Amino acid sequence: MDSNTSNIFHSVTLDPDKCMGCVTCVKRCPTEAIRVRDGKASIINEYCIDCGECIRVCPHHAKHAIYDPLTVIQGYRRSIALPAPALYGQFSHIESTDIVLNALLKLGFDDVFEVARAAEIVSDRTRQIMEEEEDLPKPLISCACPAVVRLIRVEYPELIGNLMTLVPPVELAARLAARKAMVEHPELAREDIGVIFITPCPAKVTSMRAPLGFGASEIDASVAMKEVYPKLLEHLPEIAEIGEMNLPELQSAGRVGVSWSGSGGEATALLTENYLAADGMENVVHVLDSLEEERLGDLDFIELNACAGGCVGGVLTVENPYIAHTRVQKLRKFMPVSLNHFDNDMLGLITNDEPIDYVNFVAIQKLSDDYEEAISLLAQMKEIEESLPGIDCGACGAPSCAAFAEDVIRGNAKKGECIISLRDRLGELAEDDEDIGDFIPRPFRSGKENRGDDNH
Ligand code: SF4
Ligand code: SF4
Repeated sequence: MDSNTSNIFHSVTLDPDKCMGCVTCVKRCPTEAIRVRDGKASIINEYCIDCGECIRVCPHHAKHAIYDPLTVIQGYRRSIALPAPALYGQFSHIESTDIVLNALLKLGFDDVFEVARAAEIVSDRTRQIMEEEEDLPKPLISCACPAVVRLIRVEYPELIGNLMTLVPPVELAARLAARKAMVEHPELAREDIGVIFITPCPAKVTSMRAPLGFGASEIDASVAMKEVYPKLLEHLPEIAEIGEMNLPELQSAGRVGVSWSGSGGEATALLTENYLAADGMENVVHVLDSLEEERLGDLDFIELNACAGGCVGGVLTVENPYIAHTRVQKLRKFMPVSLNHFDNDMLGLITNDEPIDYVNFVAIQKLSDDYEEAISLLAQMKEIEESLPGIDCGACGAPSCAAFAEDVIRGNAKKGECIISLRDRLGELAEDDEDIGDFIPRPFRSGKENRGDDNH
């Protein structure tokens, strides 16, 4: 098995004690990675892309994300905060990103390195690639949202070749921040330096622990934005007292970089009008379906964000994504266009050095190690699927009849667990025995059993 599948870490996880088995998450998971069995949800690791959609929709707060505590900074002699640009949109009434960056120092970080800075370099490099390289796949797909990269890997293998082969901005930021710290503090070893990402979403935590496209991440820990936010708030009055004009100037990115916080920010920096930007999982799936059907091949670039609004909509943020987006737009107003550019010396740091493989191939092979048996099981699976009602009700705990048929073949479910098949069987029994019909709840009656009931 390649490193893409053996190295499985997931930030999104389930608290079985809180799960009520309501199947809300089952129906919303974009990769059909959730099943409810014996009244509790479970996640199929190979299919989960850590998009956080199930965290967002669970009415019982049974899904949550794993990330590092802020105290992780105490384990390093020098700690560097990597704030995602979405962090700036969480605060009302701030005039400059310098206020947030200085608050991070008050919080205990020794330095800050804006992810927006690396985003500008990625934008610059992308522009260069699009101008200079011939035979590029069309359209190129952004690799910045790790949930989208994983979605493509699981569901759209033929589009893997359209993904940009650049590391995401946060990874580049970590690499540059670590190198800067090593130069400025030659007395320190790399393990003395903690490069800590302030993350808006679980997918980025997963990307740090189990990267795709590159071997190992230089991010040492990821702390959720929602954990850092209240602590930063505590320091804002102190910063206000110092006065913005007297604060150390830490801002090192311009409009291009901070715009990556919202949908369309990355694409607009490419100076082409021939792009598409979509956000929110349903829209992302719709665009990828269209691409798969070769309906968008005339575009140069596609930016996709799994969260509505872009990274400002991540499940680990605190503010409404549209409010956060408006705030970032206001902050951008007095910023320079861009302060960072790609340099050829960065080529090794910015370019992926591993391929991204299709994950489902491995999963399908697992039906059986024997090829002929696998083909026969696939045929049986199809047969079971065709015998099911095809209404994808989710009552069996699987998201669709097709997924249920696969579960039956894998031995994870029994065909009799289909509630509609059960209804039909009970209906048949009721034809022979009237009393049985009275015991079938109304929603599960096929009609034949309603003999004595009124219809009001
Ligand atoms: S949404 Fe999913 S995790 Fe939450 S209670 Fe329902 S089945 Fe359980
Ligand atoms: S994080 Fe996304 S892909 Fe994973 S189980 Fe939840 S909804 Fe499905």
